[in-house]
Amino acid sequence: MRQKAPQQIELQILLRSRRRCAMCFGLEGSTAEVKGQIAHLDRNPDNNDPDNLEYLCLRHHDAYDSKHTQAKNYTPEEVKHFRSLLQKYLETELIGPSTESMKAKKHGTRRPTRQSGKVAPAIYDRRVPIYLATRDLLISMIQKGRAPLDEVGKFAKATDEALFICGPDIASYLDDFYRKAVALEFATIRLDSENLSDDERAKVIKDKYELFLWIGHEMPRMKERFAAVMTLNDG
Ligand SMILES: [Zn+2]
Repeated sequence: MRQKAPQQIELQILLRSRRRCAMCFGLEGSTAEVKGQIAHLDRNPDNNDPDNLEYLCLRHHDAYDSKHTQAKNYTPEEVKHFRSLLQKYLETELIGPSTESMKAKKHGTRRPTRQSGKVAPAIYDRRVPIYLATRDLLISMIQKGRAPLDEVGKFAKATDEALFICGPDIASYLDDFYRKAVALEFATIRLDSENLSDDERAKVIKDKYELFLWIGHEMPRMKERFAAVMTLNDG
């Protein structure tokens, strides 16, 4: 049985490779986005060290995993070498418009993104933890129906630099997210207090209900917000 890499690591590999296959690039010079899977380069399904993982197209994933007795098997070193070439390519390719992205524009890009500027991998990598911190707090609120203040604090700390790393759109989105999380917790705490009048209680329940509606609908919206700054729009 093939083990799946933990979600967080998987995301890291997907973002790093931008769904380009290192072997397609290294062997064939292809830079197209491909359908693929994450391969364990040492063929040990328990080794989820990011260095041991690589996004490969289905064809190369199969070829990498199959054992040949006659022909020489693909080696981890080969793929890691191709990966480093691909990474260099992706970094330089991101600096300015390439023929590939011009082509993509001519054929129409998938959907409009709010920020069509290209993102260097180093910046890209710094956005991932901000996305994950936001996602974690949202999941926790969905599960618990409240926003424990230690978790809100962790979120605030992890997203503190969002303005510089993700830009003003995400920063103001996260400000609002933070305010609502705190409001949810505040409503929860108030409902536990005994000296609320009936009117006050009704109002707090109404507030909390509205915050529940927000939580319930927020996951796809949150993903879309981040996709606008995380999805690279060419290819
Ligand atoms: Zn391939």
